[in-house]
Amino acid sequence: MKTFEELGVAPDILRAIKEMGYERPMPVQEEVIPYLLGNENEVIALAQTGTGKTAAYGLPILQHIDLNRLQPQAVILCPTRELCLQIADDLNDYSKYMEKLKVLPVYGGSSIESQIRTLKRGVHVIVATPGRLIDLIKRKTVDLQYVRNVVLDEADEMLDMGFSESIDEILSYIPENRNMLFFSATMPAEIARITKKYMRHPHEIIIGRKNEGAENVKHLYYMVNAKDKYLVLKRLADYFPHIYGIIFCRTKKETQEIADLLIRDGYNAEALHGDLSQVQRDYVMQKFRLRNVQLLVATDVAARGLDVDDLTHIIHYGLPDDVESYTHRSGRTGRAGKTGTSIAIIHLKEKHKIKKIENTIHKTFKEGKIPSGKQICERQLFNFIDKLEKVKVNEDEIKDILPAIYRKLDWLDKEDIIKRLISHEFNLLIDYYREANEIESPQERSERRERQFGKEKPAGNGKGTGRASEHGYARLFINLGKKDGISPQNIIGLLNDNIQGRKVAVGRIDLLKNFSFFEVKEEDQVRVIQNIDGIKAFGRKVVVDPAQPTPSENRKKQIDKSPRVNSKKSFKGNHPAKGKKKPF
Ligand code: AMP
Repeated sequence: MKTFEELGVAPDILRAIKEMGYERPMPVQEEVIPYLLGNENEVIALAQTGTGKTAAYGLPILQHIDLNRLQPQAVILCPTRELCLQIADDLNDYSKYMEKLKVLPVYGGSSIESQIRTLKRGVHVIVATPGRLIDLIKRKTVDLQYVRNVVLDEADEMLDMGFSESIDEILSYIPENRNMLFFSATMPAEIARITKKYMRHPHEIIIGRKNEGAENVKHLYYMVNAKDKYLVLKRLADYFPHIYGIIFCRTKKETQEIADLLIRDGYNAEALHGDLSQVQRDYVMQKFRLRNVQLLVATDVAARGLDVDDLTHIIHYGLPDDVESYTHRSGRTGRAGKTGTSIAIIHLKEKHKIKKIENTIHKTFKEGKIPSGKQICERQLFNFIDKLEKVKVNEDEIKDILPAIYRKLDWLDKEDIIKRLISHEFNLLIDYYREANEIESPQERSERRERQFGKEKPAGNGKGTGRASEHGYARLFINLGKKDGISPQNIIGLLNDNIQGRKVAVGRIDLLKNFSFFEVKEEDQVRVIQNIDGIKAFGRKVVVDPAQPTPSENRKKQIDKSPRVNSKKSFKGNHPAKGKKKPF
């Protein structure tokens, strides 16, 4: 492995990066730096974020700058304001000993006048989001004729965000004898097309394989029933007490809902999505960067440009539609040589997406087992004990008060004190998990049902686990049958007695020996499950579940276009740590 000196990095820059703790070049730097120190070179670099790409292009770019010419000589385009500021900061750090060097970040959402004023005074490097740079070009406040280096950082994200035309336009103002560098975490077809358009003989550098996930990221998925998704999320947050991560949701609405639920349940969480103002987003991101927030619930778009290196977990609250988004999301952990875990909480219908992702990223997912209440309590307890062992004791500060405390606790021995300490910290958690039903995966649930009830088939047409429901109705399983002495009226009575508000319309009822099926209007399905599942009736704990359709019924349902089972998201979270910040 070469040193930065051997790669040809100039002394002023070497001094600055050494002070930043850069001892050795990272692989992408080793490849890109010598190449970009040449002239008229074109590079396509496929590397995940967190691999050291900013220095890979930043150092040679700075070295190419003629400090005596106060004109833009390098343009770095990136998708978001946050990334823009981050890159400009990094470049300023690398050029600490290049006193005259001027870097200007230009991005939308901030005063264009002050950017114009700075441009008029003269800058050497512009770091820009495409839209704002076009704006400045149109106002004739920026002259790009001396630009010798152009970087497109997170090119795939920029295309995703619809910047393709702006990039075309910007490049048309830059002379062709330039070094050009494309940086992208993934290689979608659109990038391949665009690089063909702009580059003649690009040198392709791949750190890791194309479209491959970061090397040190572990991929897990948890298969859950849709109604249990939020409860499983909470369990995972409890099971990993040191978690510092992003929970990705699919919509702004879901992002806000999940964040609200987590906050209500006592977790240290915040939402980040496009319905928040820029000021609010900045505030949330800053809190998260400072680790004052442990769980950031975010949409893909809003989390772009959030540059945090040491995330422990990425949680996909449902999988994104395309593999590229998955790679981007999970590439946010396992950065800068650290390890990370990417966890997808999915339901049965998303299983096929896992295979598709595996094939693209060349990694295998492991199926996680939902942690039991006992396992969670143990984990949290040992985490607490661990912290207790390592806590710094401030002898001087407490020495005056200690004798009185010793006297007060004199009647308790060591074991008693430990028990009380643990109970004080954990009674709420232990009580919660004692009361909470264990959560089963759909597979565990059907295996248990089979063990409990055998493979009894319903009467009637006798096909599969039941029959297809009537149009507009959802078919539900209930673990009460003729042997419990119930009649159809009892099932109707059970619903009427336990569900407040609008009366539930019940359709067909099939009573069997050990269990039964009944149908309710689709819009009532979630309400019925939430109110009836888990209650005590006829001397047992009642289980109500969507009836698992047979494959042929499944096909019919698709044709019927009936809504997804349990698609509504209104869960009753009930965390013990309510009002209490989670240990971090
Ligand atoms: P980037 O991919 O540019 O966002 O870099 C990821 C992280 O690695 C940043 O925190 C950089 O400061 C850090 N980094 C980049 N190059 C090196 C290096 N050669 N040695 C140590 N850390 C580095």
